[in-house]
Amino acid sequence: MSMKFESGIYIDGKWVQPASKAVLDVHNPATGELIASVPAAGRAEAQAAVDAAATAFKGWSNLNANQRAGYLRKANALFIERADEIGRIMTLEQGKPIGEAVGEVLWGADYLLWYAEEIRRSNGTIVPSDSLNTRFYLRRRARGVVACITPWNFPNAMLLRKIAPAVAAGNTIVAKPAEETPLSAIKIFEVFHDAGFPAGVLNLVCGEPAPIGDVFIESPAVRQISFTGSTQIGRMLSERGGKQLKKVTVELGGVAPFIVFPDADIDVAVSNLMAGKFANQGQSCVAPNRVLVHQDIFDVFLAAATKAVSALRLGHGTNPDFEVGPMISPEAVTRVNAQLADAKKRGAVVITGDSLPAGIDPKRWCSPTILTNVPADAMVTCEETFGPLVAIEAFTSEQAMLDSVNASESGLGAYLFTKDLAVAHRVSEALEYGMVVINGASFGYVQTPFGGTKGSGDGREGGQDGLLEYQELQYINLNF
Ligand code: ADP
Repeated sequence: MSMKFESGIYIDGKWVQPASKAVLDVHNPATGELIASVPAAGRAEAQAAVDAAATAFKGWSNLNANQRAGYLRKANALFIERADEIGRIMTLEQGKPIGEAVGEVLWGADYLLWYAEEIRRSNGTIVPSDSLNTRFYLRRRARGVVACITPWNFPNAMLLRKIAPAVAAGNTIVAKPAEETPLSAIKIFEVFHDAGFPAGVLNLVCGEPAPIGDVFIESPAVRQISFTGSTQIGRMLSERGGKQLKKVTVELGGVAPFIVFPDADIDVAVSNLMAGKFANQGQSCVAPNRVLVHQDIFDVFLAAATKAVSALRLGHGTNPDFEVGPMISPEAVTRVNAQLADAKKRGAVVITGDSLPAGIDPKRWCSPTILTNVPADAMVTCEETFGPLVAIEAFTSEQAMLDSVNASESGLGAYLFTKDLAVAHRVSEALEYGMVVINGASFGYVQTPFGGTKGSGDGREGGQDGLLEYQELQYINLNF
């Protein structure tokens, strides 16, 4: 099925045709079929988008908070109305099961409502001064043009989680989504258009990343770059953006530990492993990567996890009966299979998986697989897996387990299962991770700050802290 999308470029309130013949071809990851060819931006369009955003900044940032919030509330309502349609397009271009796609649209939309409310509480501070005739005021204000660069795994929510706080605060936006998923981004900008945002406040440039990224880095008008994606590109943007003295926030990958203590409720732990690991085919930076189960319950946990993983049904994401859709691309399948082959070469044992049902294309799907006996230096233990492959290992010493998971270069999300309050406090605080969930599987709530430490980046998205990322502090010293 081919769909017609007029353009992947939205500048100054209009859909724009590119100067060149550039297009982004969008393929259905379940079939490889070409589903759309989207006219795409290059340097010229990226520059025009930055210029439009820079021009719109003054007017937008001078609106009062409730006026800006009104546009966000309107966009939120439109997303709720259109969630089924937008979710279906997401599944067609990204592959995830339709229920997850629609859920993501509603989640993304909720950032708009939450920040519409939060910006009205963005209070300043009065600091005690040294004199009766002096006042010290601190106020928070918008920075200017913010460039948002986002990945394909959550093509709606990753954009809205940046855009909602940034525009609520009064910034204007240039956005570049992943080249795999421009359609979800186009649907977002259709909503913004219909919500009536003033021209230039929100601009979209779908296209080849490097030339667009270069314009964002080089343009003095761009005051902030907010990136979610790979460590390699995040590092490059931090280095080059930092040189230009821009604020750069990066959300990078993780190698999430999933730790189960002997007193844990095993059913709760297994059902959360399923939710955390196999949603989105495991293509999430917080998906459990390394499962560490206490030796005393290892066999029982493994049996329960094996039963649950074997029951997963694979198929096209458009059919709500299936829990595991295709991977984003054949290359993604190859990368996961390389981790599987590496583990097997090092002596890992396949407990379930490693084979696909008849009719499921091995170039496009990965089999949900459990491994044990995986050595500490295997790729699946040390690197982000980004697929439905899970290694389960046993531990006995709490300290040795902590030393091992804290040795990771990354530190995004960690999972902990225990009913013991002492363990819950002691271990969660000892984990060198930006987020810890105890007896659960979800991190990404609109009201909480998502983000990592160490090699996983430094920014926070969501919650009050997610708003502060897009505001700068002004200190006013008043004498009379
Ligand atoms: P992934 O491995 O998830 O595709 P990437 O870091 O390559 O991770 O992609 C995340 C986002 O970064 C995407 O929007 C992608 O287009 C963008 N990107 C990739 N290369 C560059 C670049 N040179 N400059 C700016 N953005 C880039």
